[in-house]
Amino acid sequence: MNALVDPAGSRSGLLLEKLMAAVRPEFRMPIFVPAPGDPALGGAECAVGGCDRMASTQRGLCNAHAIRWRKRGRPELVEFLADPGPVVRGRNQLPQCTVPGCGYGVAGKGLCSRHHDRWARAGRPDIGSWIVGAASVGTSRTECRMPFCALWIENATKVFCKNHDHRWRTAGCPDPDEYAADCRRIGTAHIDLRGISPQLALELQYALQCRHDDRSRTTPPQAVRDAIRQVQQAGVDSLLDYTEQQWRQAARSRLRQPGLFIIDARDAVETLRDGTGWEAEYPRDVWRLHKLPGITTGHGQACPRRRLRFDRITQPWLRQLGKRWLRLRLASGLGVASACSNVDALIRFSEFLTLAGVDRLAEIDRPMLERYLAWVNTLPGGRGAKKSRISGIALLLQTIRHHGWDDTLPATAVLLPGDCPSPTREVVTRKVAEHVMAQVESAANLDRWEDPACRLITVILVRCGLRISSARTLAFDCLLHDAQGAPYLRHINTKMRREAAVPIDEELETEIRSQQRRVLQRWPDGSPHLFPRPHANPVGAAPLGDSTYRRRLGRWLRSCQVHDQHGRLVHLTPHQWRHTFACRLINRDVPQEVVRVLLDHESSRMTAHYAKITDQTVRRRWEAATKVNINGERVTLDPNGPLGQAQWAKTRYGIATQTLPNGYCGLPLQRSCPHANACLTCPVFLTGPEFLPELRQQRTRTLTLIDVSRGNGQSRMVEMNQRILANLDRMIGEIETDQHKDTPDAS
Ligand SMILES: [Zn+2]
Ligand SMILES: [Zn+2]
Ligand SMILES: [Zn+2]
Repeated sequence: MNALVDPAGSRSGLLLEKLMAAVRPEFRMPIFVPAPGDPALGGAECAVGGCDRMASTQRGLCNAHAIRWRKRGRPELVEFLADPGPVVRGRNQLPQCTVPGCGYGVAGKGLCSRHHDRWARAGRPDIGSWIVGAASVGTSRTECRMPFCALWIENATKVFCKNHDHRWRTAGCPDPDEYAADCRRIGTAHIDLRGISPQLALELQYALQCRHDDRSRTTPPQAVRDAIRQVQQAGVDSLLDYTEQQWRQAARSRLRQPGLFIIDARDAVETLRDGTGWEAEYPRDVWRLHKLPGITTGHGQACPRRRLRFDRITQPWLRQLGKRWLRLRLASGLGVASACSNVDALIRFSEFLTLAGVDRLAEIDRPMLERYLAWVNTLPGGRGAKKSRISGIALLLQTIRHHGWDDTLPATAVLLPGDCPSPTREVVTRKVAEHVMAQVESAANLDRWEDPACRLITVILVRCGLRISSARTLAFDCLLHDAQGAPYLRHINTKMRREAAVPIDEELETEIRSQQRRVLQRWPDGSPHLFPRPHANPVGAAPLGDSTYRRRLGRWLRSCQVHDQHGRLVHLTPHQWRHTFACRLINRDVPQEVVRVLLDHESSRMTAHYAKITDQTVRRRWEAATKVNINGERVTLDPNGPLGQAQWAKTRYGIATQTLPNGYCGLPLQRSCPHANACLTCPVFLTGPEFLPELRQQRTRTLTLIDVSRGNGQSRMVEMNQRILANLDRMIGEIETDQHKDTPDAS
């Protein structure tokens, strides 16, 4: 079926040649030692000074030191590091004969074999007193070949001390220098490829080189060693002897680092052999999208490891047409998600053709398609899935006809736009109830986030209404400032694939700056992302994963016991915050056009959905309202003024989000008001007719306050309140005249 994947013969010879050319000398070592500090391959060294073993625990200690630390009752790490105890086993000289001046290794009772003999011949007296008078037995001054052992060798035929010699013999008497070097390497970061067939070793070296060059994942030497063991157990000569599926099965349990390394290595070797691009991928029945250049997700990132499974299409002719169609679609810029749903449509159609006993394109006519429509409606799945299963096939048939791919297609094989289920009319609101939002936004609950990055993402989602895909992929340099120095959050609208900006307040700006500092602390060379993925991200190139945030969000919601009005624990999706953000703004009378800009919707249709949801709220129109400042002067807000669209949105947004009991604060949200609690004397305070009752009440209260203060002789209070009274009088007067002018019937 697939002529290109031919495991035997000339192709493997060609592969060997390609491997020889590709693997660089520094990777072509029987024992590969990663450069210290290599972000992709180097295992970190133990935190204990002088210990060259690989750190294997989260605390940065090697196994031996971690065990010692646990035995001491897990003290503070600083305390432990100050006194880590003697050198760990395997780095230490073996026990030495207790007779002073004797450098031989111990044979028994703390004595070397010669002293032990003498002591036994002396009738086994008390050792403590015997050794004081014991004479020297040694002339051999040659030290053990083991680099950390200074014991004497037993005689001129030996190279190791008594006990190292024993170990060396047990190991089968290998080359002594090599044996010493091997012992020295135990526990350190290295990968041993000795004893592996030359081709397989080259393949593994090539895989290591790819991981090193790619720098997108951390590959601890321990994982590579486990992978090598698995490959050796499989008894193959090349990683390509097994299919990916076979390697997955060989890994048996859940695929962990070693198994993933093997699959990655196999993929790298196969790519080296076959190349990438359409010529290599098109003949395959499973297309790996990451092998096709130029295909990206909507987030502008390289394509993830998605596959298009044409092997699930039973009819060979449909499979061929489907592949041709998808190649055309992908080449013209179709997104990954749409391609996957097109292939899903093909698979479903194939299923139906099998059920209906259709095995030729010529048998597809309108009556048969109508049976397909009826069958699709019985499938599980939402309206969207059904729609794409119909529209996908409609487009396929249209393309076949348009390009003349197969003339046997009957003229009646047409699906019409009306065949798709009509879009839902009712608006489903996924807005989160305010009492749930109050729990989400409470500072105490936000502080329960263990991870400051996820805490900040949550705040950004709630306050800025971003999509989760935009928030987690925010660029490191995501702050912008306008001419007035007010901050904005720059983000990629992942749905429209364009850049957008939302106004933010100074508090959020400060939090973003702290996040930037945290990123630089962890990745001193910088990261392109504000929220880099915490694990397996040696150079910070990958952003936080979608599932990581959602998983942590779920955990956080449970830890905060966020519950609904019935006391049930709440399940929230990040997108609900976007709905909530939109509904809140519309409830605060922010004009739809401003909400559209803030949400960066392409058309006002989506924004209008939110407006419909909140139709029941009173629709006060800002444009119609008369705004009056404390001097009684009219204030107009000019959307066509010198401020750009976003800036204008910012001003309007600021007014609506800082509603005071008796008016609005004219300051953009970004500024903290220096006239706190003294709005009635504040030059930027704005009010309108809707606050007339409150203003009148306040006037009465102010008059009473002036009377009381005067009675108590508080002249400063009197003076202050008189200023407020004058302002209130001016504002009420202006609003009243204005109202009589506009609506003569108003009382
Ligand atoms: Zn250690
Ligand atoms: Zn001795
Ligand atoms: Zn020794």
